[in-house]
Amino acid sequence: MRPVDLHVHTPYCGHATGSAEQTVQHAIKRHFLILGFSEHFPYPVGYVDPIPDCVVPHALWPDYVAEIFALQNAYPDLDIRLGAEVDYLPDYEKEIKKALSVGHYDYIYGSIHLLNDIGIDYSDKYLSIHLDRFNDADGLWDRYWENMEKLIRLEMCDILAHLDLPKKLVTAKPGRDQTEAVRHILSLVREYDLVIEINTGGIDRTYNHDPYPSPQILQIASEMGIQVTLGSDAHAPDQIGRYFDRAVELLQAFGWEKIVVFQDRKKEYLGLYEL
Ligand SMILES: [Zn+2]
Ligand SMILES: [Zn+2]
Repeated sequence: MRPVDLHVHTPYCGHATGSAEQTVQHAIKRHFLILGFSEHFPYPVGYVDPIPDCVVPHALWPDYVAEIFALQNAYPDLDIRLGAEVDYLPDYEKEIKKALSVGHYDYIYGSIHLLNDIGIDYSDKYLSIHLDRFNDADGLWDRYWENMEKLIRLEMCDILAHLDLPKKLVTAKPGRDQTEAVRHILSLVREYDLVIEINTGGIDRTYNHDPYPSPQILQIASEMGIQVTLGSDAHAPDQIGRYFDRAVELLQAFGWEKIVVFQDRKKEYLGLYEL
């Protein structure tokens, strides 16, 4: 297999190990077709992060971009792409769009890791202390989908990262069925011509070892004709492309024949058979 992985982090964010160059070398060894870095974009100026070391500090962002460009030059045989994973914060829509308007990225991931200033994927201990801000797990999911709709309508990203992230922690296990909300969000994904990722980081990190999104959501997405891409959410060189055999099998089982990649924020299509 020649993996295509668009969701890869570096130590610039403060919670990943191994250098970007080590990741590139690892990708070459494993015959990657495309390696896309998508580092956690700095929070808007003035936003105080509730949890430290979640995103790249403002001062280091230019270094991240420069390092990826340098790696593109140093390793011309690997197709290296420059992306960013951007946190959606409803009170900072203008600031986020402005920050993204400078700089040339191949693609932007839109993510929701924070709701009401609470990190929803940090730890069960932390989330259980703060869950009352949403009343309960159902309240958290309601707020999550509400913000996801706003993120989509902001038109700031190309790919939605880990579409059902709150399922990571058992504390956020919903009481109510989420299918209706999922269908609504996926109809917006289609309307705004966005792409979702199958994020295999979930297999290691969620309590029930499902990818993001879960197979149930993938089934609905395939029926609705939603376009997909592949991401491992690697935070260490040896995590790139993790479980991609399984991901491709899942995609094929649900009837997808191709994935989407981005260059200069334009879509390109790759047949699954080409990987
Ligand atoms: Zn993320
Ligand atoms: Zn991360």
